[in-house]
Amino acid sequence: MKKFNTIIIGAGIAGITAGHELKKNNISSIILDKNSSWGGLLDNFTIDGYRFDKFIHMSFAKDKYVNDIFLKTPHYKRIPKIANYYKGFWIKHPAQNNLFPLNNDEKIKILQDFKKRDDNSNKFGNYEDWLRFQYGNYFAENFPMKYTKKYWTVNADMLETKWVGNRMYRPSLKEIEKGCKSSDTPNTYYAKELRYPKKGGYKSFLKNIVKDLNIQQNSNVVSIDLKNKILELSNAQKFKFDNLISSVPLTEIVNIIRNSPRDIVESAKKLNYTSGYLISLGFNRVDIPKDLWFYIYDEDILPARVYSPSLKSVDNVPDGCSSIQAELYTNKGYQFKKSKNEILNNVIKKFIKMGLFKYEDLVVKDIRFEKYANIIFDHHIYENREKVLEYLNENSIISVGRFGEWEYYWSDQSMLSGRDGARKLILNKNYN
Ligand SMILES: Cc1cc2nc3c(=O)[nH]c(=O)nc-3n(C[C@H](O)[C@H](O)[C@H](O)COP(=O)(O)OP(=O)(O)OC[C@H]3O[C@@H](n4cnc5c(N)ncnc54)[C@H](O)[C@@H]3O)c2cc1C
Repeated sequence: MKKFNTIIIGAGIAGITAGHELKKNNISSIILDKNSSWGGLLDNFTIDGYRFDKFIHMSFAKDKYVNDIFLKTPHYKRIPKIANYYKGFWIKHPAQNNLFPLNNDEKIKILQDFKKRDDNSNKFGNYEDWLRFQYGNYFAENFPMKYTKKYWTVNADMLETKWVGNRMYRPSLKEIEKGCKSSDTPNTYYAKELRYPKKGGYKSFLKNIVKDLNIQQNSNVVSIDLKNKILELSNAQKFKFDNLISSVPLTEIVNIIRNSPRDIVESAKKLNYTSGYLISLGFNRVDIPKDLWFYIYDEDILPARVYSPSLKSVDNVPDGCSSIQAELYTNKGYQFKKSKNEILNNVIKKFIKMGLFKYEDLVVKDIRFEKYANIIFDHHIYENREKVLEYLNENSIISVGRFGEWEYYWSDQSMLSGRDGARKLILNKNYN
């Protein structure tokens, strides 16, 4: 049996950064990942010269540690040009202060309800209350509440609100009125500049730190024996370890650890998350995508969001071509009864009807499913998460990353989570 001082489970950005940080401190480790290539959610795939990341992925990191690593990779800086699709109208982002294309009836309802908001309320029982208070009933019901169902896969009243932060723009009455009268409004998005590698897809931001790490792919950890400090892979290979850093989702790690207490397994089971179908389309002409990404509010069009890999970097497509990828979310691993092909063809038909492209433009079409996309901030997330994390902590497992900490982490935050996990280990073990 191979023996390692430190084993890291997961070669996503969190696990890779943990390995990098240990290496900087002259501590060797092995990173095990069940996938056949590294990167986790930041990984990509290529079909006939068209490269697709898994989901949108652009960097707006501010942290120095992150940027010292990311920005060594030659990259583009993109200004977020975003749109919204609503009942056949194309609306600039954010929708509420860019209502110009809508008919007067809807503009009046949105303005009236905005003015009628209950400005007495600063306690929000749930996200639906928050949306109604911020935007007024008509807009809340027709835009963000519909989008919530598509993106978060649950109704807005099922969500709490701490996660919102500055993610949602809150325009003033003046801004909304201006956007009703004119299309000449400023571009407002919480990140002013988005960065993306010139070559190799999003995960190229990590290429400088990954090259010196010991990563073993196709290594699915299926059992952890904490008493004997032995870990086992699905191919029956066993490893002995002293220290363990894990970026495995909390929902899964408790089932991998042998004999986890029942109440902990129950708490982990209650954690909720979204999964996603990725619908990736390649075109034989350059001018198909108009916006870096856009949101879709209509319920009969299944995807919530569509972005363009070719507008992120021309390296993502063959010369003179372009691409888009649509994100279609489901709840907790749910896969539709309809076959993937049926879903793919349904979405393509809708997109053609929306006027995005013509059938003859399409040269690549692909659909695949990703089990873990976003964690869901329902009303019980904090208590369930704390119980599982405490259990891991008591058993000296350092849990890192988006699904290891069960946090709404962007890639930069997942990176810092991996770094901090490694630093915690160094501190605990007095390596220095
Ligand atoms: C829709 C969407 C859009 C996003 N857009 C952006 C964006 O624009 N900008 C941004 O900065 N961030 C974005 N993010 C967030 C970003 O993807 C995550 O923060 C980051 O990729 C998480 O990295 P991680 O290492 O924590 O987890 P992961 O990438 O999930 O890595 C975990 C790894 O563990 C492995 N693993 C799990 N279980 C086992 C096991 N039992 N045995 C072995 N290996 C195992 C998995 O295979 C995986 O490789 C987005 C995320 C989503 C879902």
